Amino acid sequence: MDMSYIINELAEDREAYFHAISPPIIQTSNFAFDTVDGLRKAFQDEMGGYLYSRGLNPTVEILRKKLAALDGAEDCLVFNSGAAATTAGVLANVKGGDHIVSVSHPYTWAAHLFDRILPRFGVSTTYVDGNDIVHFERAILPNTTLIYLESPNSWFLDIQDLQAVADLAKAEGIVTIIDNSYCTPLYQRPIDMGIDLCMQTATKYISGHSDTLGGVLTGSHTLIRKIFESEYNCVGSGIQPFNAWLLLRGLRTLPVRLDRIADTTEKVLAFLEDHPSVEEVIYPLGQGYPQLELAKKQMKGAGGLLSFFINADKIEDVVLFCESLKHIRMAVSWGGHESLIIPKAASIQAADFDPRNKTHRMLRLYVGLEDADYLIADLAQALAKAMG
Ligand SMILES: *Cc1c(COP(=O)(O)O)cnc(C)c1O
Repeated sequence: MDMSYIINELAEDREAYFHAISPPIIQTSNFAFDTVDGLRKAFQDEMGGYLYSRGLNPTVEILRKKLAALDGAEDCLVFNSGAAATTAGVLANVKGGDHIVSVSHPYTWAAHLFDRILPRFGVSTTYVDGNDIVHFERAILPNTTLIYLESPNSWFLDIQDLQAVADLAKAEGIVTIIDNSYCTPLYQRPIDMGIDLCMQTATKYISGHSDTLGGVLTGSHTLIRKIFESEYNCVGSGIQPFNAWLLLRGLRTLPVRLDRIADTTEKVLAFLEDHPSVEEVIYPLGQGYPQLELAKKQMKGAGGLLSFFINADKIEDVVLFCESLKHIRMAVSWGGHESLIIPKAASIQAADFDPRNKTHRMLRLYVGLEDADYLIADLAQALAKAMG
């Protein structure tokens, strides 16, 4: 299906709402029935029509269809956050006594689910270095029901061979789920490579304006219906109509924003790679990236997130660098119009800083929609102040 068609036309029933270009926000909790039979049918199959907005809602419906099509998936559920989408996708595929194989260092709240919540219900997780399929093969146990991927993953931007993991999991009857937030379906299509469930946070690129949270889970009709009829409705973490409308609005400009961000990031990357105060830059489509061949094979682009290490001798250098930036703000999240930075040093106590530990000197940069020169000048002056 044509991406332009998906973004501009698919699922928009404009005749039903005065030919308005922008869809209405159907801000209702419930839907009325004329007949008892109609109500009975809705009770029997809540996925078949509108009953209550914790289940389906017409504004959300447009978004569901577009996001499923973008992923090349049969169906989709949209949640109130990416973390909610991950939690539902994982919970639906494990029971007490089961085992998960996860790529090491998954997103913070996925790790929390595996380390803190699931063990209370007898579900255990083995973390593997995802850069070799052998590590997955060795970690699989007779009770493994789920493989969890994040490619590229947060901070270190390591990738996994999606096709190889999907083939392995299929042969073993194991469900696969990936966090595809880094690439979005525009730059990576895991379902096409055989992955069963594809999650992404819509808070980042799909919203694109840092004004709402959201999460996407796509997959087969069977897997998605199972989640809808259980975790989705039970936890009640579906997206609200107004937030769905914001995401629809973000979606209209997603391709142009992402391509612009990718172009700008190449320029910022070149600047950082050449800078004497920068020891190393990690970027999945950068020259020096250890898994470059695989990245080129399964990713069409890499977007605006990169990590780099500065030659700081002491934590004060890192602090001065971050606090000297005038336009690049210090904040969590990414994917919006504004460039952002986070130092790894914010996750450790100042007294524990050790410059021999490279990770302590690590920074995560998100390149937004500003001009490349504007961002490079900001980085240059802050590096000069802190390290010069
Ligand atoms: C932000 C993020 C999430 C969580 O999404 P929320 O919408 O904040 O819940 C999951 N994975 C990755 C890689 C993220 O960056």
